Amino acid sequence: MKEELQKRIVKGPDGVEFEVEPLRDYYCEAQPTVMPAAYSKIVEGFFNWARSESIWILGFGTGCGAIEMRPLMTPRFDAYRYGVQWRPTPRQSNLFIISGYLSVKTLKRVIRSYEQMQNPKYVIGLGSCTINGGMYWDSYNTIKRLDHYLPVDLYITGCMPRPEALIAGFVDLKKLIRAGRAEGANQYAENFDWYKANQKQVIYDWDMPDYNW
Ligand code: SF4
Repeated sequence: MKEELQKRIVKGPDGVEFEVEPLRDYYCEAQPTVMPAAYSKIVEGFFNWARSESIWILGFGTGCGAIEMRPLMTPRFDAYRYGVQWRPTPRQSNLFIISGYLSVKTLKRVIRSYEQMQNPKYVIGLGSCTINGGMYWDSYNTIKRLDHYLPVDLYITGCMPRPEALIAGFVDLKKLIRAGRAEGANQYAENFDWYKANQKQVIYDWDMPDYNW
């Protein structure tokens, strides 16, 4: 474990000494919970319609596909007219696009960012690398199947998928959300132990709490 994460005694400005345990003091370890549907089908339908029209993507690029997201922010493809926009922090985002190959080192950051996002939240796997490893299928330091580590609501296939494919993916994701079928976050909470076991199998320096939002 990194030195700055070790339990230690520090002295405050007033000279009083106290114990600091970063993993316990700086994070919340509460486990994710399943978000129940609204009390009535009509209300839940309305919520889902509103959610589908309010997509906030986390500005986090993980592979070649991240390059394809950039044109969507320009006038040529203009994703904003679909109610889709990017945010710089997980706490303001509800869609994580894993935009290609994912090294184990990055997977650790991705898990942490995903867990910091608010519910309801969605994940899109972009490109072949997220489905079966793609051209990195025999790489020693990338993962092969994203859905072993995070719940994936939708895949966009190709290597690399063009911006048009991403727009088609947004339209499909909206349909899934409206139909109440984009339940990845609940799936993550329900199968939390299974996801954690898979994550810990590849990430050896697990110096973070199990759920760190
Ligand atoms: S699917 Fe192709 S374009 Fe996308 S990250 Fe993998 S190699 Fe790169």
